[in-house]
Amino acid sequence: MIKTRWKPLAEIEEGLASARRVAVFSCGFCANLCGTGGTAGQAAMEGLLRSWGREVTASACLNGCCLGQVMRQAVALYLDPVRDRTDALVLVSCAGGVKSAILANPGMPVVTALDSLGSEAMWDTDHPVATSLCVGCGQCVLTLTGGICPRTACPRGLPYGPCRDFPREGGPCANAPSRLCIWAQILENADPKHLEALRKLHRQRNGEPPFIPVPPQALPQRARSLTGRLLALTGRFDWLVRLVK
Ligand code: SF4
Ligand code: SF4
Repeated sequence: MIKTRWKPLAEIEEGLASARRVAVFSCGFCANLCGTGGTAGQAAMEGLLRSWGREVTASACLNGCCLGQVMRQAVALYLDPVRDRTDALVLVSCAGGVKSAILANPGMPVVTALDSLGSEAMWDTDHPVATSLCVGCGQCVLTLTGGICPRTACPRGLPYGPCRDFPREGGPCANAPSRLCIWAQILENADPKHLEALRKLHRQRNGEPPFIPVPPQALPQRARSLTGRLLALTGRFDWLVRLVK
C-alpha cells in the first residue's frame, strides 16, 4: 500500500489560495487503510474547509483514486464546475490519486491534502520488513536484504552495505543513535560478496532494454467505464477495505 500522512494544515489552506467553493475526493483504498483517507478523511477535510470559511460543493469517497476509469467517472458523477461554481478540488489521497485527478481534467485546480511517503507491506507487525518504505528507486536490493529496504531504513540510505562505523554486533546507528543499525540486522543473513556483485550489475544496467511481458488483454472501453463507475459509487463501503487490515 502507498503510505500517506496529512500535510500541515497551513500548507493545505495555502494550496487553496482564493478558492471559496471546494469539492473533496477521498480515497477508499490505501489512504483509507493508512487512516488518512476513506470516509473519515473525507469528513475531516469537509470539517476543515468549513472551519476555514469555505463551502463544500461536492464530496465523495472513491475506491481507488489512482484508477483513471474511477476518477473519470467520479468527475462526471460528482463535479459540475459551472453549475456548482466550484473553485478547487481537494484530493485526500496519495500522489497517484492527485495525478489521476489532474489527468481527468476536472476544470478546476487540484489541491493535495496528503504527502506520499512510499509503499510498504500492509502487515500487523512493526518489523523492518513491513515498515521500511519503498520509494521506488528502480534498482531494488530486497532479494539480498531479506525484505528490508536499506535505502529508507538506513539513515544514510546505503543500498549495498553498511557505513564504515556501523556496529558489527548490532546496536545504535553510528549516524542516528536513536535508531538501531539496520545493516547489522541485514548482515545477519546477507552475503557481502553478493551485495557487491549486485552493485556492479546495477552499474552496468544503463541502456539495457527492460523486459516487458505481454500486457493482459484490456476489457472493452464500455466495460472499463462501467467498472470505474461502480467503484466511484461504492466509496461508502470503505469500512469493508479496513476489515482486512
Ligand atoms: S531498494 Fe528499496 S527503494 Fe529501491 S526499489 Fe527496492 S524497496 Fe524500493
Ligand atoms: S550505522 Fe548502520 S544504519 Fe547507521 S548509517 Fe551506518 S550502516 Fe546505516
